[in-house]
Amino acid sequence: MNTKELIKIENKYGAHNYHPLDVIIAKGKGIWVHDVEGNKYLDFLSAYSSVNQGHCHPRILKKMTEQARKLTITSRAFRNDQLPLLCKEVCQLTGKDMMLPMNSGAEAVETAIKTVRKWGYTRKGIKIGKAEIIVCADNFHGRTTTIVGFSTEELYKKYFAPFTPGFKIIPYGDPKALEKAINKKTVGFLVEPVQAEAGVLIPPDGYMKQVREICTRNNILLLADEIQTGLGRCGKLFACDWDGIKPDIYILGKALSGGFYPVSAVAASKDILGVFTPGEHGSTFAGNPLACAVAREALTVIKEEKLAENSAKLGAYFVEKLRSIQSRHVKTIRGRGLLIGIELHKEAGGARRFCEALLKEGMLCKETHEHVIRLAPPLVITQKEIDWAFARIKKVLETL
Ligand SMILES: *Cc1c(COP(=O)(O)O)cnc(C)c1O
Repeated sequence: MNTKELIKIENKYGAHNYHPLDVIIAKGKGIWVHDVEGNKYLDFLSAYSSVNQGHCHPRILKKMTEQARKLTITSRAFRNDQLPLLCKEVCQLTGKDMMLPMNSGAEAVETAIKTVRKWGYTRKGIKIGKAEIIVCADNFHGRTTTIVGFSTEELYKKYFAPFTPGFKIIPYGDPKALEKAINKKTVGFLVEPVQAEAGVLIPPDGYMKQVREICTRNNILLLADEIQTGLGRCGKLFACDWDGIKPDIYILGKALSGGFYPVSAVAASKDILGVFTPGEHGSTFAGNPLACAVAREALTVIKEEKLAENSAKLGAYFVEKLRSIQSRHVKTIRGRGLLIGIELHKEAGGARRFCEALLKEGMLCKETHEHVIRLAPPLVITQKEIDWAFARIKKVLETL
């Protein structure tokens, strides 16, 4: 079936909770994808950084098919031979003592929320039902009702009330606001080290370091949502590494599976994740041997192929080139590793039409909010391929 026919079917039978570009992808390898007509595109979104390792990475594919032939799920009523090893490897990677596996990113965020609340009740003696978690304006942590309840984006929440209480919203990038918001009931601060969905918003230098100090001094937990920024995307293994700090809780997802399967995780010290007792939390699919085998190989690829290093090097190279573009549409360019945002002036008429023009040039980009073009290719990209993309971005920004 061709693009037009498939779009018609999807529009008729699928709920319209997304506004995708009209390209129907049927195949992918590395940084490239092909549509049903056989046109080739460079993927500049990487499924929101789920395929940092590139599409259908051969090593992960091999592990996945091998494991799928052996065993896919046991549920955690029993043990399997992959979960212990993934737990250990995530702990080694994060420098934490314990890990709790989930599936989607939102589930990992929910898990972190439950963890920090129980920690507050059992370790800080806060009265049950009173715990407060501080979050930031313009956050993105997922789509469950609890999570959208503390979003500041009307579109995400307007029709989905009522919401879970116990969250306090402060401006992003402002350590003083955090200090002021903390009280006796505060248990944690949930934050993205770079706000990717908000338009690649990078906080002022030293923000995470200051935040770390404030949390430690006030005995509240720092929860870093590294679902999108982690695992090499921002040019370091974790975006928190830019400030040389460790959060109390790492929340991981997306590239943790190299895009093959939903795998997410929460990692923390024994003091913190040790709060759970059997039966208090779980998920049928979480920690299944197929997911764990895939995640183990996905992490090995990030390390062995030095994807964080490549992201740092090519990210800096790319941003510098992009800044040389002479376009009346460009307001500012922000980047950390290969997570880059080109913010356009309001007069440019929105980022969508630029993404549509880039599609015609063979590049898949997606607008982030209204005025930002996000550039986040798989981290296996080469300098030559960046140059190829740059020529097309330059053309579109200078001629549209
Ligand atoms: C994508 C994302 C999530 C949600 O992950 P899902 O797998 O879509 O539930 C949470 N936080 C951040 C920062 C994300 O980018």
